Amino acid sequence: MVVVMLGAPGTGKGTISKLMSEYYEIPHIATGDLLRSYVNDNKKDFQIIKEYMANGELLPDIYLNEILEDRIAKIDTINGFILDGYPRTIKQAKNLENILRKRNMRLNAVINLDTPDEEIIERILNRVICPNCGSIYNLKFAPPVVEGHCDKCDGKLIKRDEDTEEKIQDRLRIYDEETKPLIEYYEKENKIFKVLVSSKTKMGKEVLKDITWYLEGK
Ligand code: AMP
Repeated sequence: MVVVMLGAPGTGKGTISKLMSEYYEIPHIATGDLLRSYVNDNKKDFQIIKEYMANGELLPDIYLNEILEDRIAKIDTINGFILDGYPRTIKQAKNLENILRKRNMRLNAVINLDTPDEEIIERILNRVICPNCGSIYNLKFAPPVVEGHCDKCDGKLIKRDEDTEEKIQDRLRIYDEETKPLIEYYEKENKIFKVLVSSKTKMGKEVLKDITWYLEGK
């Protein structure tokens, strides 16, 4: 099963994708994480990629296509995968279709997570991540047991450089401009399932329940 996760930064896309990955036993491929580890390993063009990421700007496709295709070619995707952070544009959606076609796979569904902007900003400002294992914490709603340390691997928790209010506003604007047409694109294909994620309604495992209900009917 191949599922694309859509949603502005801070909608809980990472957390919900991880829950889905455990439930369906297929890998969660987050292009942001993929790029961060690529940059950490000082691979080809890492300085240029790092700069785009630090500015919260979308990376040109020439840098990303090969990195993504190499990841999808790994053996663990044999039963599918959950894609988080890709595609962000219609051009990328078409590229994904090409990659899937080459591997005799198809896109089953697109999950569109929807959260009010004010809640997104508050959530991101309170977010810390473990650079070692990728776990995500929220200092207000889901803090680690030991302050500053990852519950899973004891890694030192950090705030991402791009998680400032100004940069979040920028990212929400970029998301609106560049990614909303994608929603229309996938709506036409009848592949999209919109889920409201909010601390006032549903979060985490309750959202997972709605998603599995939808996917099982597909
Ligand atoms: P994320 O962790 O998904 O917020 O991604 C962090 C950064 O990685 C983004 O701000 C972009 O610079 C880059 N990035 C991740 N996914 C993509 C994508 N599909 N297209 C272009 N740039 C991306």
